[in-house]
Amino acid sequence: MRPPYLLLDIDGVLIPFPDADGSTPDPHARHDVVPTGRSEDDPVTIWLNPAHGPMLMGVIRTGLVTPVWCTSWRQDATTLIGPLLGLPPLPHVDLPRPQITTSHPSGYLWKRDHVDAWLGDAPAVWIDDDFTRLDHAWAAERTASGAPTLLVQPNPHVGLRAEHLAEAQSWASRLLDTRTAGPAAPSETEAA
Ligand SMILES: [Mg+2]
Repeated sequence: MRPPYLLLDIDGVLIPFPDADGSTPDPHARHDVVPTGRSEDDPVTIWLNPAHGPMLMGVIRTGLVTPVWCTSWRQDATTLIGPLLGLPPLPHVDLPRPQITTSHPSGYLWKRDHVDAWLGDAPAVWIDDDFTRLDHAWAAERTASGAPTLLVQPNPHVGLRAEHLAEAQSWASRLLDTRTAGPAAPSETEAA
């Protein structure tokens, strides 16, 4: 069985939102990066938690999930952000650049339709800070139709915590157990 995808957002997950006073949680370290298409003399300042790299590697090394970036950083997640956390090059979902002023232009996360098409019927655990009620309903419908889907939603002012990854890992582990066990053996009545 192919492991489920682990879709990983960055803003609000690996880069927490600053508090009203502009401060960011303590363990985060400052980096200046130059996203694709931006001028070298106009870098973007980001804050990353150095503990996130080893935390993510701990899950990736289990082989229980296939990690994929799912972020408006697009390929810069692979080339800029991942290396700052010591992560190997991971693939990314090639999201478009819609002209939107809210992340929920239709009441649900703008990425979702693209992710839905990209996933097909593959199982997935998706970590993003920005799901709405409609996204959770979508995940429940996918799960009911045979594509197990778990949404994990960190607080964007705190970002990713160990418990989020523990939840993702134990979900993937249970999924593997279920699939390895296969369908229940037919009862005598059914077999007859
Ligand atoms: Mg986000």
